[in-house]
Amino acid sequence: MTLTPERLSTDQVDTVADRLRTVLREDQVLTSKTDRLNRARVPAPFPVHRWRERLPDLAVLPESTDEVAAVVRIANELRVPVVPRDGGTGLTDGAVPLHGGIVVDVKRLNQVHELDLDNRTVTVGTGINMLKLNEQLGRHGLIYPDDPASYPCSLVGGRIGTSGWSLVGSRYGHTRDLVLSFDHVLPTGDVIHVGDGIGRKISKSSSGYQLKHLFMGHQGTLGIATRATLKLYPKPEAELSPFWAFDNYDDAYRCVGALARAGVATFAGAVLFDEYKVAYLRRDDEAYIPQPSDVRALVCAVMYGYEDEVRPAGRRLFRIAKEHGARYLGDEISEGDWAARHDRYATPLHGRTKAGQVVPMSWHCEDAAVNYTQLPAVSQAWHAIIADLRRKTDVFDDWGMFAYTSADTGVDYLTEIDVGIWEQRLDDEAWALWVQAKRDIARAALEHGGSISACHGSCREGEVDLVPSELGRGFEVMLDLKQMLDPHNVMNPGKYHLDLAYAGDAEAALQQLRDT
Ligand SMILES: Cc1cc2nc3c(=O)[nH]c(=O)nc-3n(C[C@H](O)[C@H](O)[C@H](O)COP(=O)(O)OP(=O)(O)OC[C@H]3O[C@@H](n4cnc5c(N)ncnc54)[C@H](O)[C@@H]3O)c2cc1C
Repeated sequence: MTLTPERLSTDQVDTVADRLRTVLREDQVLTSKTDRLNRARVPAPFPVHRWRERLPDLAVLPESTDEVAAVVRIANELRVPVVPRDGGTGLTDGAVPLHGGIVVDVKRLNQVHELDLDNRTVTVGTGINMLKLNEQLGRHGLIYPDDPASYPCSLVGGRIGTSGWSLVGSRYGHTRDLVLSFDHVLPTGDVIHVGDGIGRKISKSSSGYQLKHLFMGHQGTLGIATRATLKLYPKPEAELSPFWAFDNYDDAYRCVGALARAGVATFAGAVLFDEYKVAYLRRDDEAYIPQPSDVRALVCAVMYGYEDEVRPAGRRLFRIAKEHGARYLGDEISEGDWAARHDRYATPLHGRTKAGQVVPMSWHCEDAAVNYTQLPAVSQAWHAIIADLRRKTDVFDDWGMFAYTSADTGVDYLTEIDVGIWEQRLDDEAWALWVQAKRDIARAALEHGGSISACHGSCREGEVDLVPSELGRGFEVMLDLKQMLDPHNVMNPGKYHLDLAYAGDAEAALQQLRDT
């Protein structure tokens, strides 16, 4: 077994396509350059002149679990890489085919198979997205409350592949809590069903290993989820989303902690925006109501539930905020800004050169899970890293940070730094600076007792190098599992340094990574 799979020759691609046509219709096997380019692009930046490195050799559009399994079986037999792709919104390149091969685009697996109103579950194809699903569920007064900022464009399978994080997770849980079970195609093409224990609609079972969690967040390296059963909740009758302004970060930081620790049952989350982030949002007047110019930090809290529970709970949160020096920004700003949470990043003309010229910028974010007590120190360290980068070149634009409660108790926060990147000018030199900055950002999170990712995973150059250090001996267990379940390294090779499972001297390579 080679460590890095070879790219396929044209003849080999033709052979693979012919084999795929024995299990799929002609229109489900895509070989044109456009079809392949459309499935190579993800929102994460990469030097434009190197895009061709990431093209898949083919893409397929299966319509059932059996078809996905048949594709994977062929790939395993022919030793061809397989990369699952759902919405393609993943920010750490999980769905990017680093070694070519077949992209399995699951968007035609988008049916609602069963809506069980009594047990409050829905069973769907993993190519459906939360917005589309909730349009159907709304007619029954129900909601599937997985609510990432990418809610309109990421799909259930990608949420499983990344074990995603939800903006309202403090109330309803994150993807890992909301997905009860799913059908999963292993790298050999065998199909299994995983849940808590083995249950289909069971939320707590103690039978056997909890395999559901092994097959979530693996970024497509251990197979493909095809059909999932999800937990449902009553569609909330009332929403309260106050935004409060502060004169300084410290008061806002203390306020957000107090709100999260208050133990209010309808509390769905709180966000802390620092001064840089507020300035960044203020500029973004397409999507946001401009904030008053004297605001130095911002806190937002969100509550969902019945009218008669949200109102009294809201009064308590308003009292807490006032005690911490908050100034309420009013209903118009609060409701408008919270409603805009799903289009926060749709601002391609957002960037500026150092001279102030407006230029097209993509944005990128690095995230980490950090305890509340470590937030100020991590923020300081991250700001210093990006300020340094910005001093070196204006390929990188302004930046900002926010921290978001992960749990109702406020134990830890998703903390994220967003950076504008002038992608057309992202040459190899700037890319190397960026990769080093990402590594430094991840290292700062680890040094403060955090995890280097809260929702996006950590597959990309830079942060991925620190995964073996974060997981310690656990990373070696991952290597063992990878080799056992994927004997020919066909599932999404090149990700998470899992190719080490097939290397001659994995230990030396690991040591080298840990010394990075
Ligand atoms: C504007 C924007 C806002 C975002 N906000 C959030 C946020 O608030 N919270 C959050 O968690 N993330 C957020 N993200 C990141 C991204 O949306 C999530 O990582 C999401 O879970 C990816 O879903 P997807 O359908 O786009 O998956 P893809 O990008 O297609 O795939 C993601 C990974 O999962 C694997 N995969 C895909 N399908 C399957 C499958 N069926 N079975 C197994 N593995 C699979 C892929 O190989 C890849 O490694 C945001 C992204 C953007 C662009």
